[in-house]
Amino acid sequence: MRAIQADITTLQVDAIVNAANSRLLGGGGVDGAIHRAAGPELLEECRALNGCKTGDAKITKGYRLPAKHVIHTVGPIWNGGKSGEPEKLASCYQRSLELAVRHGLQSIAFPSISTGVYRFPVEQATAIAVKTAKAFVEAHPHPLEVIFCCFSAKDLAVCQTELVGEP
Ligand code: ADP
Repeated sequence: MRAIQADITTLQVDAIVNAANSRLLGGGGVDGAIHRAAGPELLEECRALNGCKTGDAKITKGYRLPAKHVIHTVGPIWNGGKSGEPEKLASCYQRSLELAVRHGLQSIAFPSISTGVYRFPVEQATAIAVKTAKAFVEAHPHPLEVIFCCFSAKDLAVCQTELVGEP
């Protein structure tokens, strides 16, 4: 597991994760960037998926992206933290990692799900991301490289601190 600062649409990995909304029809932030870089075929495939529930994930091809696949997951909208937001965010990471293993993928890059427009506090979200991925990797013999793709230097610093904090 490692953290980098990058635009996730530039990464050559088996899958990048999209912080999508439940309709899976594109949007702003990282979702918009992924759809712009992948091209219209991605939206076509997404239309056939009939949306995605919060905390769940669905996989598509990567089309014009350097990444082979996109795993679309729907993070929770932050509403103070007492509406199951932490559990739903953990589920996004868990379900995405399960899909990656089921499809035999060997590398996956995550953006900081829910911490943009959905306003999940970045320190808490990063702690959940690292804890969930670490437990998953340890429980699965399948080799899977997990990359936390941070958009800002501040997010990268938060993630690096969290990764070092893990024994
Ligand atoms: P959400 O609706 O789940 O909060 P956002 O796209 O608004 O999703 O933000 C999620 C995170 O993705 C934020 O940390 C944002 O800075 C980051 N982000 C936006 N564009 C990119 C990109 N091209 N590559 C990687 N991360 C990005």
